[in-house]
Amino acid sequence: MARAAIPGRLIWQPATVAATRAETATARTLVLDVDGWTGHTPGQHIDLRLTAPDGYTAHRSYSISSASAPGRFEVTVQAVTDGEVSPYLVDVAEPGDRLEIRGPLGGWFVRRPADPRPALLIGGGSGVAPLMSMVRAATYPSRLLYSTRSPSEALYTEELAAARAADDGRLDVTYVYTRVAPPGWPVPPGRLDADALARVAWPRDADAVAFVCGPTGFVETVADLLVGIGHDPANIRTERFGPTGG
Ligand SMILES: Cc1cc2nc3c(=O)[nH]c(=O)nc-3n(C[C@H](O)[C@H](O)[C@H](O)COP(=O)(O)OP(=O)(O)OC[C@H]3O[C@@H](n4cnc5c(N)ncnc54)[C@H](O)[C@@H]3O)c2cc1C
Repeated sequence: MARAAIPGRLIWQPATVAATRAETATARTLVLDVDGWTGHTPGQHIDLRLTAPDGYTAHRSYSISSASAPGRFEVTVQAVTDGEVSPYLVDVAEPGDRLEIRGPLGGWFVRRPADPRPALLIGGGSGVAPLMSMVRAATYPSRLLYSTRSPSEALYTEELAAARAADDGRLDVTYVYTRVAPPGWPVPPGRLDADALARVAWPRDADAVAFVCGPTGFVETVADLLVGIGHDPANIRTERFGPTGG
């Protein structure tokens, strides 16, 4: 097939690490510059490929966490213990490094900025990354339910606190701590359950769309709970952060 016939998003393109930002002790945001990048729809991801000096390559998928912009986007990577790619991106990659990406990818787990429906965004761990792209881009109201092990592992804490404090009706944020809760937190740490979901869910007649992202088990549990509390299954979109690449 002629190269020109392959859609641009499926071709590996060079990307340059423009900056890095520590999010937690084990997670980092990479700002990537890509010539000709025209932007993305919140929720989409990219594939990222690393090549070793001996030619060995490894690629993994990462959600885009920034709002859409030409020429540049961000991904937030949580280091997986003993992982091949994520510890490199979190601990080693530095500004000026070159790698390859293809994308943006994905057409279902997306929130189009013109969609007027309210959104219920539910993230587990680094699954909050594509939801953050939606939060950063959205004009319409969102409720974010963020399940994290502990305050020290939560991503985007300051930005979410500022958005919440703005109290402009665009964003409401609720945390569920599964292992360690902050001092004085009203409920003991524990898994997200139907009661917590029901407290943040939009009224049934709001025609809300739910976006659920995180580890596979989290996503399946939450999708079942949403259906259980009466959310229309046709308005539930999921993204599973299982192992990728090969
Ligand atoms: C569509 C999509 C979007 C994604 N977006 C992000 C993102 O925004 N940020 C992010 O940090 N990750 C994201 N991931 C996960 C990412 O693609 C990698 O799987 C992850 O970084 C681990 O890669 P690794 O090479 O470090 O680990 P590997 O060398 O692939 O795996 C090492 C060990 O960890 C296990 N493992 C691998 N991945 C995971 C995982 N996700 N959870 C639990 N155990 C795992 C493997 O089974 C293996 O035992 C996404 C996955 C998908 C499918």
